[in-house]
Amino acid sequence: MSTETRLREQLCRCGESLFRRGLTFGSSGNLSVALPDGGWLMTPTNASLGDLDPAGLSKLDAGGRLVAGDKPTKEAFLHRVFYARRPTCEAVVHLHSTHSVAVSCLCGLDTADCLPPITAYYVMRVGKLPLVPYFPPGDAALAEAVGALAGRHHAVLLANHGPVVGGTSLQAAMDATEELEETAKLFLMLRGSAIRPLTPDEVADLRARAATSA
Ligand SMILES: [Zn+2]
Repeated sequence: MSTETRLREQLCRCGESLFRRGLTFGSSGNLSVALPDGGWLMTPTNASLGDLDPAGLSKLDAGGRLVAGDKPTKEAFLHRVFYARRPTCEAVVHLHSTHSVAVSCLCGLDTADCLPPITAYYVMRVGKLPLVPYFPPGDAALAEAVGALAGRHHAVLLANHGPVVGGTSLQAAMDATEELEETAKLFLMLRGSAIRPLTPDEVADLRARAATSA
């Protein structure tokens, strides 16, 4: 099986898994993965992630031009800025998953890092989560704002919208996105309770461990 065929099938399996578990709904959310020739496979516009066709995925060349399949997601620009700013990025996941979106709508967030370090896996898989200010969907300023952060962060949270997460593989991007969504859920469950987040020393130790195992 060619790498492209394998990636097409993997992308569809990931979409179906996210949809089945309620992490995406309707035709929201989009996924992409880099191809060995420098192009990308992307989910098409208005497609349900629960019902993707491997042969219908949008195939873009290294210049971002559609070369096969259906028209790509209208949010393709979110993916492109991640690939442009992160040379190690091989896949991008963007969801409107409920708990992450709920956090993105809260007042008083620390815009440099929206969620406290409450679990070790959150620190290792997501790390810091900066907030991108609100812009209407498709606004060119949104791409610029995401691009300004994507070089330094593999996960960002779009205000009143949802997360965008890059990874060194589709599985890594999926794992980090799911860790973020579960941590957002825990954070909302714990609101009003006195939390003991991990200490700065504990966080530094985890980051060092994550860096040596990467
Ligand atoms: Zn979106």
